[in-house]
Amino acid sequence: MIDFRSDTVTLPSPAMLEAMIHAPVGDDVYGDDPTVNDLEQWAAQRHGFEAAIFCSSGTQANLLALMSHCERGDEYLCGQQAHNYKFEGGGAAVLGSIQPQPIENENDGSLSFAKLTAAIKPVDPHFARTTLLSIENTINGKVLSLAYLQQAREFVNLHALQLHLDGARVYNAAIALDVDIKEISQYFDSMTICLSKGLGAPVGSLLLGDKKLIAKARRWRKVLGGGMRQVGILAAAGKYALTENVMRLAEDHANARYLAEQLSLIKGFTVNPSLVQTNMVFAKLDPAIDQQQLQATLKEQDILLSTGNPVRLVTHLGISRKDIDTFLTVLKETLKL
Ligand SMILES: *Cc1c(COP(=O)(O)O)cnc(C)c1O
Repeated sequence: MIDFRSDTVTLPSPAMLEAMIHAPVGDDVYGDDPTVNDLEQWAAQRHGFEAAIFCSSGTQANLLALMSHCERGDEYLCGQQAHNYKFEGGGAAVLGSIQPQPIENENDGSLSFAKLTAAIKPVDPHFARTTLLSIENTINGKVLSLAYLQQAREFVNLHALQLHLDGARVYNAAIALDVDIKEISQYFDSMTICLSKGLGAPVGSLLLGDKKLIAKARRWRKVLGGGMRQVGILAAAGKYALTENVMRLAEDHANARYLAEQLSLIKGFTVNPSLVQTNMVFAKLDPAIDQQQLQATLKEQDILLSTGNPVRLVTHLGISRKDIDTFLTVLKETLKL
């Protein structure tokens, strides 16, 4: 299968599976799993935080962050396009009694500080208490600049808010900016990382923060049914992902750029390759193309595409340059070009 739907489809490599097989494990709810303990300590130090907690998913890691920063009746500022507003089932409101205050994202994925300032509520019983700003990097494949992150830090300091990063794909941002991950993480009170996307682990995310925040998150994780037992098997995959699969993300970015350039030459596809910053390509399809038919025909040849117009194509460690060429050849045949 050549699967462009998402980088969540990545499969563990033989070397990653080997690391999982040999991981020493114990009951992590008792704090007894040495592989989980190692991952959490290592990850905290590596990203410049006091503590870390291994979570079942990015959604859970974000929810734990929101529930640990905010109390019932608090609110967090975020983007209309933020994953932890739009794509997580309203979990903060449903399970945390926390009100989201979304702001329209700018074209580059950032949030305007003028619009954020206007959304902060006065201290008054009429209003929810504005507690946290949550931003996302990368957002829809776009990278927020270090200068912007620094401004976000100054903004939250000025307004006495906390600052969270949904860093599901923060390593794609670091690779695109060609900086060490700490150049990004330094600005945040908390940060999540998805291990199961481009980094290639089968399951798992991390939440990073100070000791107090992570202790709260550990309690909420148990409440939410996320206390896992001999989970070192998965933590071993996560550690492997963070130590072995980071630098190769540059390949995914180069492949995405190549894919965009080649697609832009195909009649019926509108793509701007210069907008491709990481591993995502957004292509507008001519309405004359029957997208469902195209999807079905490609599927017969083991190529999977998402629906939607623009359609999102994601590169990852399961897609080589040769796979992209195969896709382009099949696509041209299918469109009879
Ligand atoms: C995928 C993703 C998440 C959630 O991760 P899951 O593991 O799918 O729950 C959170 N934030 C962003 C930006 C994501 O892309």
